[in-house]
Amino acid sequence: MKIYLVQVGYVDADILDSIRGEVMKVFRGAICEINEEAIPLPEKAYNRVRRQFLSEILLNEVLKIVMELENKIGEQCIALGVTDVDIYAPEMNFIFGEAQCPGRAAIISLFRLRPEFYGEEPNRDLLIDRAVKEAIHELGHVFGLGHCKDLRCVMFFSLHIGMTDRKTRTFCKKCAVKLDNVIDLRV
Ligand SMILES: [Zn+2]
Ligand SMILES: [Zn+2]
Repeated sequence: MKIYLVQVGYVDADILDSIRGEVMKVFRGAICEINEEAIPLPEKAYNRVRRQFLSEILLNEVLKIVMELENKIGEQCIALGVTDVDIYAPEMNFIFGEAQCPGRAAIISLFRLRPEFYGEEPNRDLLIDRAVKEAIHELGHVFGLGHCKDLRCVMFFSLHIGMTDRKTRTFCKKCAVKLDNVIDLRV
């Protein structure tokens, strides 16, 4: 199974590559690649009052890429969009990411994972650690996993960055079993 990382707008290549490596460690047997083609930020997704992009429109663009890739490679695949702009969903101030559950497409935003957003010094390792957690979380949804009550589990729902920092990048035992069942079916 292939998982493609797709830039939505400009995203630092080093950060993408770090996410790529960690995704391959967690989802055994998956091949993770960075898609050469980036998605330009869709202007219609931008809300000038909120100064944020509507996640749903970005996610739909990622889904279009999945369809194109599937036609090209002739098998089912998954795409994770990565963006550096602030994203939101209706009735939410912001979101760290969104995914089809289950499905083929997901997106994460780095915007609120950056320590500088919270008035702290830039910290690349911390940013990457947070991005990996959010990437694995959204991919967990793509595989059909819901939110988990275990606050150390990667499937715990982060309402704020403290919750992302508290959880780990691994699945708790229950979620790991669910994931194994789904991935086995797909092999
Ligand atoms: Zn979630
Ligand atoms: Zn769990």
